[in-house]
Amino acid sequence: MQKDQAFPELAVLRETFESGKTRDLRWRRSQLLALERFLIEREGEIAAAVHDDFRKSPAETFLTETGYLRGEIRFALKHLKSWMKPRKVFVPLIYQPATGSCSREPFGVVLIIGAWNYPFNLCLAPLISAIAAGNCAVVKPSEHAPRSAALIAEGLGHYLDRSAITVIEGGVEEAKALLAERFGYLFFTGSRSTGREVMLAAARHLTPLTIELGGKCPCIVEERSDLRVAARRIVWAKFLNGGQTCLAPDYVLVHERCEAELLRQMQEAITHFYGDDPRLSPDYPRIINQDHFLRLEKLLVGSPAWSGGKSELEERYIAPTILRGVTPMSPVMESEIFGPLLPVIVYTELSEALDIIRRVDDPLALYLFSSDPAVQDRVVRHSRSGGVCINDLLFQAAMHKLPFGGFGQSGFGTCHGKAGFETFSFQRSLLRRSLFPDPDLRYPPYSRRKFSFLKRLVTFFQV
Ligand code: NAD
Repeated sequence: MQKDQAFPELAVLRETFESGKTRDLRWRRSQLLALERFLIEREGEIAAAVHDDFRKSPAETFLTETGYLRGEIRFALKHLKSWMKPRKVFVPLIYQPATGSCSREPFGVVLIIGAWNYPFNLCLAPLISAIAAGNCAVVKPSEHAPRSAALIAEGLGHYLDRSAITVIEGGVEEAKALLAERFGYLFFTGSRSTGREVMLAAARHLTPLTIELGGKCPCIVEERSDLRVAARRIVWAKFLNGGQTCLAPDYVLVHERCEAELLRQMQEAITHFYGDDPRLSPDYPRIINQDHFLRLEKLLVGSPAWSGGKSELEERYIAPTILRGVTPMSPVMESEIFGPLLPVIVYTELSEALDIIRRVDDPLALYLFSSDPAVQDRVVRHSRSGGVCINDLLFQAAMHKLPFGGFGQSGFGTCHGKAGFETFSFQRSLLRRSLFPDPDLRYPPYSRRKFSFLKRLVTFFQV
């Protein structure tokens, strides 16, 4: 028996799914187009909401939220028909006459739990995939970005089919209550500790799930790399969103011969991007709440800043900060920083850098600056991470054709583009056999002769 008393909207969603409405290509397309209209018509309100939540600039919100999502919708609209097409499979001789195919089926009513740091992106990118795959969906945005969460609830209620898609606002209590319900699929983005709880809740109903977590993403800067470009790109990727990006370079590993020049170039880039006093820059966000601010301040006390280091509780401002003289044992290397502090660790041999990466974490992303193809190959071959980007950062997650996701402690499962569509659907096999012929061969009794013939048949004609 389904227990939808706590969330009466779930009963409506289940009924809609059972009606088959959401499986229809036209319905999927209409919802994706409606979501696109929401992003276009309400772009200003979206930027204002994110700005209210943590003072992120409209340009960054466009680049990382609305702009990205619009691309994701266009990509899905372009490919949806072919993604939905059942895949024909070859039928081996012993199973003939027959035809085989495999289709992608929606799970039903799915639950999407988002984190606050990209409040629209992290709720709506999975929603795009869920809709594309023909599901009904419940979206639970994070309570830590309340203006964004309210706009998601109001906007989706206004633009999308309310009988199939609903937003439930709230915090831990609401999330836990939702997880007590049975869903067809869970898609969670957030911290490792919450991820564990979500997995336990999923186990109760044997619900399949994707878990997108964080981690410490390393960035190696090798000797033969353009240090000016490397510095500008690292600074941009690190301090975007105030450093509160799961994919941000958590720490830099730099060859000892380039350390001084890289530091100089990074400081120059910080001043160039955010001015002499980044507190006054309209492009520099704030820390989301006091708890995170105090956590980051504590890290600052334990690892003195080489540059930056200023903080102000009232505004939840922490300056773009570079930490020098860090070792893998420093407190700042214990867990994901998730804020505007950038530790720089020096190495002499590339193998040392690769050892550190292996010891520190299972990173969501790994970055490398090097123009040497041999070095690039070596780093990719001798490391593990959810994704890799060479000579740049973050863009591996912006490509709709590249699956995005973690591995090990940084999560499992993928999203974006076709990978997202596949995440929100399961493969259903279909074999259509003919009723004729119906030889006795497979039926008992199995005489020695029959068994020996069967053995040969299965051994040689099965594939
Ligand atoms: P969080 O785990 O505190 O919260 C995430 C969501 O889970 C929120 O909606 C919250 O209400 C809900 N939640 C909280 N407690 C819950 C519980 N007991 N059961 C079920 N749901 C619960 O994470 P956060 O602070 O919002 O996000 C920051 C973390 O997310 C960082 O570690 C970051 O690296 C990670 N992150 C990962 C990705 C990715 O794609 N891999 C993207 C963004 C953020």
